[in-house]
Amino acid sequence: SSKTELNWNKAPCRFCGTGCSVNVATKEGRVVATHGDITCEVNRGLSCVKGYFLSKIMYGKDRLTQPLLRMKNGKFDKNGEFTPISWDQAFDIMEEKYKATLKAKGPDAIGMFGSGQWTVWEGYSAVKLMKAGFLSNNIDPNARHCMASAVGGFMRTFGIDEPMGCYDDIEATDAFVLWGSNMAEMHPILWTRLTDRRLSAPHVKVAVLSTYEHRCFDLADLPMVFTPQTDLAILNYIANYIITHGKVNQDFVSKHTNFRRGMTDIGYGLRPEHPLEAKAKNADKAGASDPMTFEEYKAFVSDYTAEKVSKLSGLSEKQLNDLAELYANPKTKVVSFWTMGFNQHTRGVWANNLIYNIHLLTGKISTPGNSPFSLTGQPSACGTAREVGTFSHRLPADMVVANPEHRAISEKNWQLPEGILNAKPGLHAVAQSRALKDSKINVYWIQVNNNLQAAANMNEETYPGYRNPDNFIIVSDAYPTVTAQAADLILPTAMWVEKEGAYGNAERRTQFWHQMIKAPGEARSDLWQLVEFSKRFKTDEVWPKEVLDKNPKYKGKTLFEVLFANGAVNKFPVSDIKEGHSNDESEHFGFYLQKGLFEEYAKFGRGHGHDLADFDVYHEVRGLRWPVVNGKETKWRFREGSDPYVKPGKGFEFYGKPDGRAVIFALPYEPPAESPDDEYNLWLSTGRVLEHWHSGSMTQRVPELYKAFPDAMCFMHPDDAEERGLRRGDEVKVVSRRGEIRTRVETRGRNKPPKGLVFVPWFDASQLINKVTLDATDPISKQTDFKKCAVKIVKA
Ligand code: SF4
Repeated sequence: SSKTELNWNKAPCRFCGTGCSVNVATKEGRVVATHGDITCEVNRGLSCVKGYFLSKIMYGKDRLTQPLLRMKNGKFDKNGEFTPISWDQAFDIMEEKYKATLKAKGPDAIGMFGSGQWTVWEGYSAVKLMKAGFLSNNIDPNARHCMASAVGGFMRTFGIDEPMGCYDDIEATDAFVLWGSNMAEMHPILWTRLTDRRLSAPHVKVAVLSTYEHRCFDLADLPMVFTPQTDLAILNYIANYIITHGKVNQDFVSKHTNFRRGMTDIGYGLRPEHPLEAKAKNADKAGASDPMTFEEYKAFVSDYTAEKVSKLSGLSEKQLNDLAELYANPKTKVVSFWTMGFNQHTRGVWANNLIYNIHLLTGKISTPGNSPFSLTGQPSACGTAREVGTFSHRLPADMVVANPEHRAISEKNWQLPEGILNAKPGLHAVAQSRALKDSKINVYWIQVNNNLQAAANMNEETYPGYRNPDNFIIVSDAYPTVTAQAADLILPTAMWVEKEGAYGNAERRTQFWHQMIKAPGEARSDLWQLVEFSKRFKTDEVWPKEVLDKNPKYKGKTLFEVLFANGAVNKFPVSDIKEGHSNDESEHFGFYLQKGLFEEYAKFGRGHGHDLADFDVYHEVRGLRWPVVNGKETKWRFREGSDPYVKPGKGFEFYGKPDGRAVIFALPYEPPAESPDDEYNLWLSTGRVLEHWHSGSMTQRVPELYKAFPDAMCFMHPDDAEERGLRRGDEVKVVSRRGEIRTRVETRGRNKPPKGLVFVPWFDASQLINKVTLDATDPISKQTDFKKCAVKIVKA
């Protein structure tokens, strides 16, 4: 029967950082069905609506199957028409552009942009090719728009990245506090678990804080809509409340924390000539990272009184006190969840630090049900974007390029000549867009993301950079996204189960899958593209002569030979691939490429608090949470008995810091970069919707998801609409100082902004809201604030 012809295999969902596991049915070379995997602890058999339709994401009518180059009269032309070419021709022109640029301007003139949608080995290979091959640190992930502030928060407070807790906290807690996180739409399966906990344990409380009402408010015991940016003040008020009510966990604080002033870096990350930037620089904001005493910290937060914070935030004193009491009450276990509301913030790192302050002051951390938990957006934001070193300042396993010891470790693990790695941090996402516009980066390769649609201030910065005649833009994608259409060369890419892969989700869980089907036509995985392209370069063409003179054994070798056929990566034979599974890349290169890359990469973390299990183990299990030591995963880090790295007798140990103590930072409220005024008189916040994943390039091509939410719209308060003579469904323009889009007014439905704020989702390629947004960034994390800028709404 046809039923018996189905071949079922496990894979993590392609979409969000929740990391649900699905079972995938293939038949005659196609994915024909998926269902939630009942054996996976994350989703316990459930899928959200995006996961439910996973089987259809590969089969959009306009799937790319051949490389396409802009050509006129048989030659490359920046203004030519996209014309099918062979892979050889595609690599020929890339090779020509890379070599000419490297020769003329050196490695700083090439750049790469990726994302947490790369598999672990794809991100790792991209880092090796860029940082070790081309000696350029100009590689950055979409995680810069998403998780950079969370990374900055972890590194400053704990000295090591990623959450200490795990999803098991959901069933163990007494209270949930959501800070700028619409879990009901963005992490729906975790929201299902949270709802289940709330409804089955009546004492459990849910507090929801946001700048507008969204679906999570349906379950909220404490619903709170606050004025944008004032979360910084609210967090300081909670700390003040805990101290003044005598609820500091003195024992925990004295043994496991330090207090510091944390104000470093000023400005809004705009171009220096921008008037807002000049204003910020003139304000005296520079601070120090000096130690301080508890008494000094107490005096610092005492300024954040209920009266002052109530006035600033728009929350009542009762709301503030009810919220603070959840944290202060020693009997209440609390999980704080946050996502983009905190991270996409001109003080995103501070917001992350401030929430840790509260959990540290009360000792509500690293125990079941007590968890400050940063959620991620992309499927492998943690496993790839953060862990393998795809940020422009990073190396694998939380190391950084600016640190000579870290470079030396990387050089050793990668078998490179000593001292070869570039010590200068590369350009981050926003700086890359500006460098493209300014002709400072001239060759740019984008994989697994749709950055033109995703990046802020598209009109003034991103689009002009892509279309700059000095530049050659390469986009690898499965579909002709907005970004691909602005490129010069499009490379057709294999997706999801068309290749073997690994992702790491928000709770440190590493998950693997096998290749199940062939990619269509000439489409090849990002991994294949990166590794195959490395054959085009000889070390003599990209590495300094003096390095090669000192290390003659590297002379005349290709980058493929030194980076990928280096004895470590090509160590495992193709015969190691589990019987019954194909693996296009390994068969092409003649060794088990993914296994070699993973085992080489895993060396960075083993013994350093970031231990991954052996490669083969992950193909058998539904993921394991690192550190995995002696075959055992770790649910709660930093706590004795749960985390193998905590020394006996310590109780807790924040071992990312040399003295084992986490840091409580004194950080002030700071106004946003741009606020509404007489002309641009409304706040704009952007975000996502349940049915579409990020820029919609996959989900908009699934008919059921498209029909469920076909077009973006401008959610606004009915009074704001009425004041402007607008009615629901009217066509309007959303206008900022940077650009405008046309959309329709929505005064009902799932998002209910307060008066003075509008919300527009960004998934819709026909309404590019990032023409309107401001590219102000957190000065520490360089992450853009997509949640706040000033706009006006006028009838179209
Ligand atoms: Fe789970 Fe996220 Fe996939 Fe939905 S989109 S099934 S929540 S991983």
